[in-house]
Amino acid sequence: GSKLSSYTFKDNVLQEDINTSDYYIRENATLLMLVRNWELAGALHSMRSLEDRFNRNYHYDWVFMNDVPFTDEFIEATSAMASGNAYHVLIPSSDWDTPEWIDKDLYEKRLEVMNQTNVLYGGSKSYRNMCRFNSGFFFRQEILSNYDYYFRVEPEVEYFCDFPYDPFKVMREGGKNNGFVITLREYEETIPSLWEFVEEYIDIDDGRDIHMDSNSHKFITDDDIVGNNKAIYVSNNAYNMCHFWTNFEIGDLNFFRSDEYIRFFEFLDSKGGFYYERWGDAPIHSIAASLLLDKDEVVHFDELGYKHDPYYTCPSAYYMFLKQRCQCNASSETNLDLHTLSCLRRWWKHGSGKNFMRFTTS
Ligand code: GDP
Ligand code: MN
Repeated sequence: GSKLSSYTFKDNVLQEDINTSDYYIRENATLLMLVRNWELAGALHSMRSLEDRFNRNYHYDWVFMNDVPFTDEFIEATSAMASGNAYHVLIPSSDWDTPEWIDKDLYEKRLEVMNQTNVLYGGSKSYRNMCRFNSGFFFRQEILSNYDYYFRVEPEVEYFCDFPYDPFKVMREGGKNNGFVITLREYEETIPSLWEFVEEYIDIDDGRDIHMDSNSHKFITDDDIVGNNKAIYVSNNAYNMCHFWTNFEIGDLNFFRSDEYIRFFEFLDSKGGFYYERWGDAPIHSIAASLLLDKDEVVHFDELGYKHDPYYTCPSAYYMFLKQRCQCNASSETNLDLHTLSCLRRWWKHGSGKNFMRFTTS
């Protein structure tokens, strides 16, 4: 087995603790990448970064998913880069393609309008299939029935720091269902009527799946806005556009597979907004987490440096920065946490701040 170093607090002093046990019990978890064959170089870039900063000590599996068969070259290269097992699966077309009940004329009309308005991926059909797949179908793929947790990875991302812990262990030991590193505001033009439907869903649910007293709905609604972002909030009813960026996401598959989440997804999916608008999987996951989970079930991994263009996050605690051998600039304007676009301060106020447990070793 591999030797692991981790951090622990003793008498309130952060100390390095070398775990010298002979073996390490992994969590029931996998690294997960949805990816296209032509993105091989970017996939390897992300893999190398995550392997070096985390997985080379743990050897978690990698699962790759694609809506067309992977090429031999892709399979060979990613399997070689992985320190754990690598699996490559084909997504059935019934889980990827645009469903029959979508009104084709209306869809084409909406695509054309969005295409003319500079909305990112506004005219793309494959992007819409991808967002719907990532919202309602990735967790139902057969191979994932073997796992409890997944860590979503995308091509061309970077992890700036050594991981000071196994995030899967943080998830399980802390009873977390969803973990993020970056939170920001969504482009409103992509979800003009999403919140209307969410409100309809909240009405129908009538407290069955949604527990307003313990969830983090205040994180995504606009009760007490200050500063110059006001215009962004008020124009789309009560949703403030805050969401967790899902290109980095660590989640409990059992949450997504639950009746609660499936009911939420099926209701929204039936409205057609993944196609008639351009709903992203990030606001869908985030609204679900903020409504269906207790706030303590969501965790902000604030020690992990991460970049997905055009934004990044870099640990601001200087000791951790050095200890984790980070390569990023925490004080730069491009560190999203310092930016008005970031929802992090809102998370600190309305989400969960109970993170201390992650430093304990067992
Ligand atoms: P962005 O991060 O929103 O700019 O979108 P990306 O282009 O990075 O897509 C998000 C994720 O979905 C990435 O992991 C892509 O590799 C993957 N992806 C996007 N479109 C497709 C597609 O048509 N087929 C497959 N197999 N993967 C896709
Ligand atoms: Mn991406």
